[in-house]
Order: sequence, then C-alpha cells, then structure tokens
Amino acid sequence: MGEFHEAVIIGGGPAGLTAGLYLMRAGIDALLLEKVILGGAPLNTWQIENYPGFPEGISGRELMNRFSAQAKAFGLKIKEFAQVEQVSMDKGLFTIKTDSDVYEAKGMIVATGTESVKLGIPGEDIFIGRGISYCATCDGMFFKNLDVAVIGGGDAAIEEGLSLANLVRKIYLIHRRDTLRAQKILQERAFKNPKFEFLWNKKPIEFKGKEQIESIVLEDTKDGSHSELKIDGVFVYAGSRPDVGFLGDLIEKDNGGFIITDEQLATKTRGIFAAGDVRKKTLRQVSTAVGDGALAAYELERFILETRT
Ligand code: NAP
Repeated sequence: MGEFHEAVIIGGGPAGLTAGLYLMRAGIDALLLEKVILGGAPLNTWQIENYPGFPEGISGRELMNRFSAQAKAFGLKIKEFAQVEQVSMDKGLFTIKTDSDVYEAKGMIVATGTESVKLGIPGEDIFIGRGISYCATCDGMFFKNLDVAVIGGGDAAIEEGLSLANLVRKIYLIHRRDTLRAQKILQERAFKNPKFEFLWNKKPIEFKGKEQIESIVLEDTKDGSHSELKIDGVFVYAGSRPDVGFLGDLIEKDNGGFIITDEQLATKTRGIFAAGDVRKKTLRQVSTAVGDGALAAYELERFILETRT
C-alpha cells in the first residue's frame, strides 16, 4: 500500500503547477511529483515576452517561482527529485512508483513536458559539458566573447541565440533548410543582429576536438559537400520529445510520442488526463500549458467527485 492522495500530478512545470493550484482551490487532496526541481522548461528560458500580464517580459525562472509560490500558498503538496518509474491501475486505483516511494491515487494529470532531442552524431556524447550544451540560459556565461554555433531553426534556437548574443562574440546559426521555423518576430530580430551569421542548408555530422570541442563537420543538405567550422561552443536546439514510457499502454501516443487526448484532455484511460507540452497539440507555450493545466484539473475534479463516497 502506498501513500494515498485523491490526485497525483506528475511534472512541475507550468501545466502541472497550474493544475495543482486549481485542484487545491477545488478542495481536492493533490500531490505533485517532480523529477528534478519545480519550474519545467521555462527555467531554460532567459526572457519570456509572450506570457500575458508582463509587458516588460519576465525571466523564465522568476515566472516559475511565482507559479510555485502560488500553488504552495493554496497548500499543494510537492515532492521534488521524485522520478516516476511506473504507473499501473487496478480496480479504479492508480499505483505510482517513483525511484524511492509508492503512491496511490484515484486520478492523475500527466504534465511531464519534453526533453531535448540529441542529434545522435559522433562526438556529441563526448563533448556534452565540454563545449556542447542544450541550455544557453544555464551555460551561456562560459562562452563570453567566444564564437558559438546554435543548431536548429525553431523558436528555441532563435530565442536562445538572441540571449547568447548579449554574451558571445559570434553566433553561427546552422539550419538544415533555408527558412526558419521560428516565430517571425524572433526571425526579424536575429536577421538584424550583427552577431548572427546564418549557415543555411547545413547539418552537423560530427563534433571534433581534444579536451574541449573545437570544430563541427557540416554537410550541405543540397549538394552533400562537407566543410569544417571552428567554434568554441555549440548549443543544440533540434526539438524536444516527451518521455512517457512509465505509463506503459495506459495512454495512446502519436508518431512523435506525444500523448493523445480528447478535448477534455482525457487519455484513453479513465482518470488519467494529460496537460502541457507532453500532449499532442499545435502550440507549445507557457500560456497554452496554463490553459491545459486548468482544464485538466477541472476535468479531474469532476471525475473524482463522481467517485467520492
Ligand atoms: P522545434 O520547433 O521542433 O524546432 C527544432 C528545429 O531543429 C527545427 O528547425 C528543425 O529543423 C531542427 N532539427 C531537428 N532535428 C535536427 C537534426 N537532426 N539536425 C539539424 N537540425 C534539426 O523545437 P524547439 O525550437 O525546441 O521548440 C519546441 C516547442 O517549444 C515548439 O512548439 C516551440 O514553438 C516551443 N517554444 C516556444 C518558445 C516561445 O514561444 N518563445 C520558445 C521555445 C520553444 P526543421 O525546421 O527543418 O524541421
């Protein structure tokens, strides 16, 4: 028998913390499990400009501190460094096993977000932490006045490249196509920034160096030719994917591994809802994660009230 709570939320980013706030205000006994520390993906974002209510922008860390403080103020129970390893269900009761504890719940919200995609090319694993990073906000300071490459053409690559531009000497923005995927406002800023040099139609195929990374071998995606670029650091923003193996076949996933829900954010198993970046959706932002968290909590509350005796 594990510790019982009516609801367990897995994941302490914007969706999970919002769900916690709403469940507490609805009088549901809820526990949030977070595998590392509260905050989720916005902790890796230097400045958030598109979350309404902060016209000057706000750092991801500060915004998430406010989310946590608000959820805690309404009494949400939180366990950090609790990695969920397995979820099972028997007779309408969920058992949630973490690396150290077991919990039971009537219902769950899965809000575990996504993880950075690795490129999977030679040298990548060798130079992680030795010049290769997936988080400019965390590691940008190490590259002050140096030359770095940013890989990718999405929001994260451009946004984090722009924050790096305040520190580094030069940014080679390496993209495998000749048009960016990022929002137009970010694209325009990067095109205007003198520290950016765009290397179009190029993809990295190998990272080279001795103790630290020293260069990237690039392949031209149009003609297949190879070239080598000297750099001091690399920031990889090649997308992100969820990791929900702990749910086994309790949920249905799309081809990218994202959880499929209905409009009420219900999954294929009654009592399991999904919220935020982890679910199949078209727009992954703090604002849409917040909406998901609120709706999932509302639907889970209704589900729990139906089964309360
Ligand atoms: P993303 O939008 O999926 O972009 C990934 C980029 O990496 C794409 O440009 C892709 O190229 C490229 N790429 C993928 N695999 C590659 C490979 N093997 N080699 C070279 N390049 C590769 O991912 P993201 O930028 O991390 O964003 C994830 C989600 O978070 C998105 O929904 C995004 O909108 C959201 N987000 C939003 C904000 C914001 O609103 N400020 C900030 C960060 C993230 P192709 O374009 O050719 O596919």
